[in-house]
Amino acid sequence: MPKYAVLVIDMLKDFIYGSLRCERALHIIPNIKKLVSIARDYRIPVIYVNDSHIKGVDRELTLWGPHAVRGTEGSEVIDDLRPTEKDFIVLKRRYSGFFETDLDLLLRELSVDTLILTGIHTHICVMHTAVDAFYRGYNLIIVKDAVEAFSEDYHKLGLEFMEKLYSAKLVNTEEVIKLITITT
Ligand code: ZN
Repeated sequence: MPKYAVLVIDMLKDFIYGSLRCERALHIIPNIKKLVSIARDYRIPVIYVNDSHIKGVDRELTLWGPHAVRGTEGSEVIDDLRPTEKDFIVLKRRYSGFFETDLDLLLRELSVDTLILTGIHTHICVMHTAVDAFYRGYNLIIVKDAVEAFSEDYHKLGLEFMEKLYSAKLVNTEEVIKLITITT
C-alpha cells in the first residue's frame, strides 16, 4: 500500500489575493479544501509548504518583487485553507519545497513514499518540488484541478513536464479521493 502525504504548496495570501495575486487559482481552493479534509480523516499527513522570504536577502525577491516576506500577513496561508494543529508546515526560500528545508527528513520519518501535490504555480513551485521529489525517489501524483498557474499555457507546460520527465500521475480531485479511500 502506498504511504501518501498531501502537500499544499504556496496557497498564501500574497499569491492568491496580494502582490502576486492569481485569479486563476481561486477555483482550486474548494478542491484542495475537500482533499485535505479527506486526507485528515484517513490520517494522511497534510504538509503545507510555504514560501517565507527574508526581506533584503532572498534573491527571488529581486526577480519577482516583494512576496511572502516572513512575518507579514501576505506570507500566511489563506483563511479558507488554514492549517490545523495536526498538519505540518515547512518554510522554504526557493521554488522547491526540498531546497535547504527539512521536508525530506519529515517525509522519511513519516514513512511517506508517494506525494500528492496541490497548490501553485504548476510550472514553478509545484514543478520544482516535483523534480526534487523525483530525484529523492518519491512517487508523484499531481492533482490537475488543485494546481494552477498564471496562464493556461504555463499550467499545461508544468503538467506535461511532470508527467513526461518525472513520471507523475495526473489525476483530478475526485480520482485522488477515490484512490485514498480505496488504498488507505
Ligand atoms: Zn518566492
